[in-house]
Amino acid sequence: MAKEKEKCSFCGREKAKTNILITGLEAYICDYCVIQAKAIVDEELPAKKAAAFTKTNLFKPREIKKYLDQYVIGQDEAKKILSVAVYNHYKRINQVIDKNNEDEVEIEKSNIIIVGETGTGKTLLARTIARMLNVPFCIADATVLTEAGYVGEDVESILSRLLQAADYNVEAAERGIIFIDEIDKIARKSDNPSITRDVSGEGVQQALLKLLEGTAVNVPPQGGRKHPEQKMILVNTQNILFISGGAFDGIDKKIGSRMKASMIGYAAAKETDHIDKTNLLQYIAPQDIRSFGMIPEIVGRFPVLTYLNPLSKEILKRILTEPKNALIKQFTKLLKIDDVDIVFTDDLLDFIVDKAIEFKLGARGLRSIIETIMSDAMFDLPSEKPDKVLTIDAAYAKEKLGKANIAKLKVA
Ligand code: ADP
Repeated sequence: MAKEKEKCSFCGREKAKTNILITGLEAYICDYCVIQAKAIVDEELPAKKAAAFTKTNLFKPREIKKYLDQYVIGQDEAKKILSVAVYNHYKRINQVIDKNNEDEVEIEKSNIIIVGETGTGKTLLARTIARMLNVPFCIADATVLTEAGYVGEDVESILSRLLQAADYNVEAAERGIIFIDEIDKIARKSDNPSITRDVSGEGVQQALLKLLEGTAVNVPPQGGRKHPEQKMILVNTQNILFISGGAFDGIDKKIGSRMKASMIGYAAAKETDHIDKTNLLQYIAPQDIRSFGMIPEIVGRFPVLTYLNPLSKEILKRILTEPKNALIKQFTKLLKIDDVDIVFTDDLLDFIVDKAIEFKLGARGLRSIIETIMSDAMFDLPSEKPDKVLTIDAAYAKEKLGKANIAKLKVA
């Protein structure tokens, strides 16, 4: 472009009268216009984004599963069921928002219960879904909850946490996801009504029902107990998705006896041949959750029920290397910053997995094992000469993971 044309295409200011004139393909923009444009974007973008989310961010179940596959290894059945539940949930939100919905068919919420041993990926699944959808997410620990008025946290504290995760944007929080961990710990303590109140079991389930039913709840913004002087924030839980997880220790026996009871006779004897007795969780049904001690109303409010498989050796090995943020990838990147190329041998991966199984540490233990193996190298290498290649094999790991260190792992 010729020199005399150098002026802002938006306000017409000549170059000499601007501080900075930015050149585009066929236009210029001055610093004054950039600042003004930024103010407009800041004002209008949040509303645009919120509107866009509800309409266009509707990922299809296959897309959701594909995303989950990048972070969560195995657990295909749970991933499929979750993908559909989440898709339906956000379809439902659109329907609620869409004022032209005239046929009065109301889609109910698809809250989810995931049953599986500790460390099999329940939290990881819920967290990954929330990240994909870019909605506020929080984890609530059911074990600290008690009925209002007793020592412990009121159920409303869960919503305080979600509000905090949403930076106190109530509208965003109302579309968020809450993961309730260890839901099995609030199971009814016994089948018979007892003289003492069950304030951390059935009492909490009753209190939770209110949140699950989708009502406007007064929430103390900082959490903790409600007290009269505190200003409350009104949060409507109608569109919040609740995903809960629990190990439900011993539920396999209940599943087993239910299946046995329903299969008496000749035909049944044939059918039991097909039952995989090593993993009864895959046959879980709502009545098993009920007989475990969840009240029927709660079971009804979590219409989607799925399970996670125990992690096999093969899966643990894949967890080390395959997810987008796999531990092996993380350590490789960490050392690369110091110009060290690290090679992890296959026998090392087997060694790590064997130790995780031997000490019953599950996937959670993989990190502490690698940290222990790598700790000397991470201390020394940054100060040593760069451009090194370091090979870590099982023999190296065995040496680093001496008896003292193994004791430490066990405690963790
Ligand atoms: P849970 O909630 O079932 O107790 P988490 O989701 O907290 O278990 O899992 C603990 C850790 O183990 C996660 O941070 C993750 O690194 C790892 N992990 C567990 N299961 C898987 C899996 N299937 N794929 C990838 N990583 C996993």
